[in-house]
Amino acid sequence: MQHYLNFVDGQWRDSSRQLTVMNPGTGEAYATIAQASIQDADDAMFSARRCVNSGALSNVRPAQRTAWLLKAAEAIREITDEASMVLCLENGKNFQTSKEEFEEAARYFEYYAGLADKIEGISVPLGKDYIDFTQYIPMGVSVQIVPWNFPVSICARSLAPALAAGNAVVVKSPEISPLAMTLLFKALEKVGFPQGAFQLLCGKGSEVGTHLVKHHDTNQIVFTGSVPTGQRILKDAADHAIPCVMELGGKSAAIALADVDLDTLLRSVKLGIFYNAGQVCSAMSRLLIHRSRYDEVKQAVVKMTESLKLGQGETHSELTPVVSKSQQQQILGMIKQAKEEGAVVLTGGSAPDLAGYFVQPTIIEARPDMSIAQKEVFGPVLVITPFDEEDEAIAIANGTEFGLVSGVFGESINQTLRIANQLISGQVFINEWYAGGIETPFGGIGLSGFGREKGQEAIFSYVQTRNIAIRLSHHK
Ligand code: NAD
Repeated sequence: MQHYLNFVDGQWRDSSRQLTVMNPGTGEAYATIAQASIQDADDAMFSARRCVNSGALSNVRPAQRTAWLLKAAEAIREITDEASMVLCLENGKNFQTSKEEFEEAARYFEYYAGLADKIEGISVPLGKDYIDFTQYIPMGVSVQIVPWNFPVSICARSLAPALAAGNAVVVKSPEISPLAMTLLFKALEKVGFPQGAFQLLCGKGSEVGTHLVKHHDTNQIVFTGSVPTGQRILKDAADHAIPCVMELGGKSAAIALADVDLDTLLRSVKLGIFYNAGQVCSAMSRLLIHRSRYDEVKQAVVKMTESLKLGQGETHSELTPVVSKSQQQQILGMIKQAKEEGAVVLTGGSAPDLAGYFVQPTIIEARPDMSIAQKEVFGPVLVITPFDEEDEAIAIANGTEFGLVSGVFGESINQTLRIANQLISGQVFINEWYAGGIETPFGGIGLSGFGREKGQEAIFSYVQTRNIAIRLSHHK
């Protein structure tokens, strides 16, 4: 079995303890990885602090950072084919989805390469006796905590803008699915960034994760993960007033209007809830359907769902396993509770007779107040609900504690935009779920978190403003 290492102070480092990484497609052990210790975390933080203090990242001409980031994009593309198979086998995800993750990671580096030399302040007019201007300076040491669902692209999503802005970064990879991230760092290692610019630690969240959050050298925390962990981190960060970016969960709704185009909607439903086995923070986990089209849309969604080919990621199947046994059991438990509350399972609802951690693609008819329509499932489970009036649909869509994304499907530009204007979420998709890309600002409202990733706006998550005010002396 292959063994993977952590990256600390420019060296690949083993540990006396290790974590076993499973293949979700077979339920068998796939590889092992060194489990980072507190000492590893301290060494990583020290190295990052030294890098920050040296100015090796922040004092160079910004065009130098552009050059490093562009080389990083190139290096990532060189390893994509080989590394994508590792991601596919450790995560269970489709091989094509794995390749898309690496391509997206490369795009983040390319995109923020273009911004690295355009982080410009403003000049503030204060009258003839003063000159005043602002500067955007790096935060310092950015601690970035990554989840398992898109470990490579989410890592790059935070790492690339942080480096573009001149921060040193300590990344904590997830205990589940950390291997492909080590290959990403092997690619980055070749680029020639200053020593200590980035470090990678795979360790327990409750041990190494907490230690990094509470570390006196931490200047910023970027957390992507579940709401309970985010809340725990916010409490720890409050003790030393560390700024945080929180990218948390969702329970996002699509609204299908009376004039919806059925084929357009079905394509989006398939992508929205079954891509990556529904393990997407911005998954379409609720579909609200106008009553005049309810039976037709319901039947078509169930038919599409029953046609999906289940299989391991490397077989190019449409529905892959979920990431772990505990995730599988949690999803099945939520479906069981939904049935007990009176929700109706229209198709799926159990684990198929396959090796690996599969959950059948599931459609559930439920009222908006039921737990299955309120809580994040993080699996291939779609809740459908009818509505009569536009205002009712908006109220249901906005009626959870989350606010990550939402969607509107219909032919009238007037009606779709009128509804979009009232949806409380960080992004609204019209007529295509996941429309947008790395260029469009992404982040949550409410329990979905705060701060923005992606797009030009994300650069402001990685800088702080310094204002310089100058009093001019009088002419003698
Ligand atoms: P998780 O919260 O269990 O773990 C995320 C990371 O936090 C892991 O690296 C874990 O080791 C670490 N961690 C755990 N406890 C910690 C602690 N006390 N201190 C510091 N770090 C700690 O989440 P997960 O199960 O890996 O990911 C799934 C969740 O992530 C879902 O809720 C999903 O919606 C969310 N997510 C959000 C986004 C987004 O951009 N908004 C993207 C992907 C996933």
